[in-house]
Amino acid sequence: MGTKYVYLFSEGNKDMRNLLGGKGANLAEMTNAGLPVPQGFTVTTEACTRYYEDGRRIAPEISDEIFAYMAKIEAITGKKFGDKNNPLLVSVRSGSRASMPGMMDTILNLGLNDEVVEGLAAKTGNPRFAYDSYRRFIQMFSDVVMEQPKTEYEKLIDEMKDRRGIKQDTELTAGDLKELVGAFKARYKQNQGAEFPAEPRDQLIEAVRAVFRSWDNPRANTYRRMNEIPYDWGTAVNVQSMVFGNSGDTSGTGVAFTRNPATGEKALFGEYLINAQGEDVVAGIRTPSPISHLQDQMPDVYRQFVDIAQKLEDHYKDMQDMEFTIEDGQLYMLQTRNGKRTAAAALKVAVDLVDEGMIPEQEAVMRVEPKQLDSLLHPQFDAETLKKAAVIGKGLAASPGAASGQVVFTAEDAAAWHNAGKKVVLVRLETSPEDIEGMAVAQGILTARGGMTSHAAVVARGMGTCCVSGLGEMVVDYGKKQFTIGDVVKKEGDFISLDGSTGNVYGQALPTVAASISGDFNRLMKWADGLRQLQVYANADTPHDAKQGSDFGSEGIGLCRTEHMFFEPSRIRAMREMIVAKTVDERKKALAKILPFQQGDFEGLFEVMGERPVVIRYLDPPLHEFLPQKEEDIAEIAADLGMTVQALKNVIEGLHEFNPMMGHRGVRLSVSYPEIAEMQTTAVIQAALAVRKKTGYNVVPQIMIPLVGEVKEFTYVKRVVVETAGRLIAEAGSDMKYEVGTMMEIPRACLTADEIAKEADFFSFGTNDLTQMTFGFSRDDAGKFLDYYYDSKVYESDPFAHLDQKGVGKLVQMAVKLGREANPHLHLGICGEHGGDPTSVAFCHGIGLDYVSCSPFRVPIARLAAAQAAVKNPR
Ligand code: PEP
Ligand code: MG
Repeated sequence: MGTKYVYLFSEGNKDMRNLLGGKGANLAEMTNAGLPVPQGFTVTTEACTRYYEDGRRIAPEISDEIFAYMAKIEAITGKKFGDKNNPLLVSVRSGSRASMPGMMDTILNLGLNDEVVEGLAAKTGNPRFAYDSYRRFIQMFSDVVMEQPKTEYEKLIDEMKDRRGIKQDTELTAGDLKELVGAFKARYKQNQGAEFPAEPRDQLIEAVRAVFRSWDNPRANTYRRMNEIPYDWGTAVNVQSMVFGNSGDTSGTGVAFTRNPATGEKALFGEYLINAQGEDVVAGIRTPSPISHLQDQMPDVYRQFVDIAQKLEDHYKDMQDMEFTIEDGQLYMLQTRNGKRTAAAALKVAVDLVDEGMIPEQEAVMRVEPKQLDSLLHPQFDAETLKKAAVIGKGLAASPGAASGQVVFTAEDAAAWHNAGKKVVLVRLETSPEDIEGMAVAQGILTARGGMTSHAAVVARGMGTCCVSGLGEMVVDYGKKQFTIGDVVKKEGDFISLDGSTGNVYGQALPTVAASISGDFNRLMKWADGLRQLQVYANADTPHDAKQGSDFGSEGIGLCRTEHMFFEPSRIRAMREMIVAKTVDERKKALAKILPFQQGDFEGLFEVMGERPVVIRYLDPPLHEFLPQKEEDIAEIAADLGMTVQALKNVIEGLHEFNPMMGHRGVRLSVSYPEIAEMQTTAVIQAALAVRKKTGYNVVPQIMIPLVGEVKEFTYVKRVVVETAGRLIAEAGSDMKYEVGTMMEIPRACLTADEIAKEADFFSFGTNDLTQMTFGFSRDDAGKFLDYYYDSKVYESDPFAHLDQKGVGKLVQMAVKLGREANPHLHLGICGEHGGDPTSVAFCHGIGLDYVSCSPFRVPIARLAAAQAAVKNPR
């Protein structure tokens, strides 16, 4: 028998997620549990993969199988697809392994045409309902399957409402809706150059094809890249017999969570609309009622729903996000899944589930996505400033956090302004999946329409972006690029601020303060710390950063980039003197001016860190970075340095490099000018001696030489370090220990790691440069062409953000092995940006590094990621 591409819901279960997608697997699980699920089938993710393998076509055997299963659904429901008298209508929805908002939306009421709609009207005695269903179907099919502009169809509805002098869609009569169907079909034909497909079987196959196609649309690709979801997973398609929430006042549809997805509070939370279909709730076209109202409106349905919700949460042992429909007083479950939640809610739910005895601590640690913690660690508005600021409007507190930025009205503008270095707040009537890229870069999102489960709210929460939705009084004018709330007008480029925790909107930029961390956070992080085997350090250049890292739980400093210390006005002059110096003596004189500053910086770091390791990396960037570029600056600095403009220009010219990243930088500077290493060693050692004396801490400084590719480079500079340090320690009559290690950021260093390890006390993988050098991609320019690589699927993610395990990882692994064999005492860490990226942290755990080092704000993320890696893959 060939591959089976289609499964009835009754043939699957929750463990078949890879094949059936999350939605399909859970529909199967609910079916097996005897819950009221309208029956249907799932076309597998393998069918999607096959579609792409076959050159984007659905093989005849797959469409045959789909129709064979359609016949089974006909038998189960007693209805017939395309039949005029007793029609079976279906919904078609995408559903991959991981829930992906970038993919195809739902199509409802598929199977309708001019004849079937009449049959449906006659059978239900409700022509209004029949035509409402039909116009929705044409609208969704045109938008989702044919990708025609949704707004054109919405405009036709608005025009109709204006002509009739009504406000709500529900006030449209059967006659109005029938007229709309005609207008929609005409519009379809005009856009498509072909009639709307009347044959239900064609509609179905087109819809399945659209789901498969949506797996590769730009939004889905962006989302996948952001969430590291592999392209080859594919998506499943769920075809489900329809139940109708729009068949009258005893029908309705809604979305609910078993716990509050914004706060984690344990209480049923959700919204519903009477006489509506699913997309009305999500699109935010009408404002729904809170689920608690259902208790009064339909007490029996409410009780049944509460009971099912509890059962599902107990079964999945996690907060559930459910979709339901009520048809003529009958409840149906359309979906359940582990609900997306804010970071605060994720922590609370995980910790509460432990306290409720539902899951063990280790499981709780696995439940929180490390990346999500980010939103908790970022600043909030300062409470005092907030009291004085004027609120210009209040919407729903859809996703917490503080956002301040300039107003833009389109996702494209958000991306463009962001690329130009601006902070933006994206303001929309409502958002849709095509806005995902703009939403991802915006500080915050503000919408006029939509409830807590609207697209904007759900997606923003998932991304940890602040969002205020459903600000009904806001009038958005895309044409004029402005919005009005009462008499306040804000134009594109004006500053506003959003408080995603209260829903308040402020008409100005507001300052923020660092986030405070709650009790749940600390409890969960303690559990994580108990599980992890990797140590977590921070990259910190200043005592302030070191303190921040420390507050977030860093156990050391893995990278102090000393060059950042030279840019202050009081220091940069001495640095420039050093660069233009013509003799060693002149250079030494200039360096002597920098020494006290540098020593002071290191003392600050050692004092904050106490006996925890502090790794100090010696000067790394090419010297031209310290010299001016602009004509007027050159003139000013030449005068300041007492040299002619031409002489300074000559120096600048002399330092010019075609490829500075591969030029005179890193260890090469100290090979050329050993006095730099001598000064930096003096600063490190004197600072450590001073802090030991002052505090009694057993400070053991670690000196790190960057960009080594050959052991002799390392030993050359190490000799300078050892001579200087040895002399100073002896002069102080101290027995202080110190270490000298290297960054591993040149492929040749990894290839010859055994030689270097014999000389070095530690290796720290500088995976920023190592990625640059391994790929031959400039760190600074790769962004300009990587998009083409994503589009063509050559690479699925940015190798500078997520470690390329196959190539760069292989070099790291090789260096670890060679290094440890040559020097069993060698300690090993990573300090490139990857040190704070969860999948890269997991890799570092797997290959046996001792620590990862990342920016202070990512320390908690790395701690949690390291714990999860240790649970999944103990070493
Ligand atoms: C690196 O190259 O990974 C690194 C940490 O050093 P820098 O980013 O300063 O080049
Ligand atoms: Mg580097």
